[in-house]
Amino acid sequence: MKKKTAVSACLVGANCKYSGENNLSAKVLKYLEDKEYITVCPECSGGLPVPRMPCEIRVTDGVRRVYSSDGIEYTDEYYKGAEKELEAIRSFGAKECILKENSPSCGVHRIYDGTFSSVKIQGSGIAAEIFRKEGICVLSDEDIPD
Ligand code: SF4
Repeated sequence: MKKKTAVSACLVGANCKYSGENNLSAKVLKYLEDKEYITVCPECSGGLPVPRMPCEIRVTDGVRRVYSSDGIEYTDEYYKGAEKELEAIRSFGAKECILKENSPSCGVHRIYDGTFSSVKIQGSGIAAEIFRKEGICVLSDEDIPD
């Protein structure tokens, strides 16, 4: 039986990035060759359109909130999308998920610092954090060997 996994949709070529583009990764495609997988995009599942304004996470009073570069809050959409995709991963039966590094949803080891100045900090996106907390093994696309 093939191993089951889940993967950020943009890593396998879906044009679901905020810019309307993708993050197609040849090494991720290669990793998936002998696996059964589903794709997830927590931002789209949360109801956000493509294209959309870029978002980053800011921490206020210890609470993580998501804002677009034009100052609109999308925290609820991010959490809703993450929960929906968690359910999809569980129904499918995958125990791991390969996620796109640096994204406010999918970042595993690093995210942007909330100032929209291209500065990265240690931390995880909203979906990556929820998946990990719920026992899914989250891997960054950068953890996949070439
Ligand atoms: S939310 Fe995740 S899957 Fe969707 S575009 Fe962003 S990085 Fe890719």
